[in-house]
Amino acid sequence: MNRDQQLNRLQCHIRSCTRCVEAGHLPVANPIFRGRAGNRNLIVGQAPGPRAHLSGVPWSGASGTLLRKWFATAGFDPERFLDDWYFTSLTKCFPGKAISGSGDRVPSARERALCRSHLDAEIRLVQPRLVVALGRLAIDAILPEAKSLTLKGLVGSIQTVDLGYGPVPVIPLPHPSGVGRWLNAPANRALVERAMVQLKHLRQDICEPTVDPAAPVRCMAAWPTASQE
Ligand code: SF4
Repeated sequence: MNRDQQLNRLQCHIRSCTRCVEAGHLPVANPIFRGRAGNRNLIVGQAPGPRAHLSGVPWSGASGTLLRKWFATAGFDPERFLDDWYFTSLTKCFPGKAISGSGDRVPSARERALCRSHLDAEIRLVQPRLVVALGRLAIDAILPEAKSLTLKGLVGSIQTVDLGYGPVPVIPLPHPSGVGRWLNAPANRALVERAMVQLKHLRQDICEPTVDPAAPVRCMAAWPTASQE
């Protein structure tokens, strides 16, 4: 089975996941992610938002609009946003609104742990050449050794992670939701601009998509059971 077929099998497995419902964390499971094995530019977010939950398309709300704007300054065509990247997140289902009423609920450590094997399996099969980690939780998951660094110390830098086939560049970014106040500070927005300059330089070395990510997915063989993962 080639990498594309294995990823297809994994995605079908994730789409049928109800771990968080069974554990009582979510009323309903609706895993949102997007991409094919040829999309070796990986975006890791925290969790889908309400617009993505309804549309089934990652980053279809205001955060996605800002992300497209950022990436446009790095030379990525906003019209090809959904074609140029593999989209995933720490948890794949919308966690619901925060009790405070401000933004979405942050998925708990237990939910992130339940979903972690999906993320690890995606990374294993996508074999990204570039990773963009959005928000503190995603940065810490991809770069655990960077936990002691502040967002100010990370945004604007190129980090690397060893994913088993050599060092892979990681661009850490704040979450574009705007719920936090980090992006209100002009100095922090300047760090995002610097990060886009870094991303522009990396763009020359990253692969072009070789597949149509909008093509319908046909489920193939079943994914191994949890004990086999
Ligand atoms: S968040 Fe992840 S682990 Fe939880 S139900 Fe959705 S896909 Fe499954």
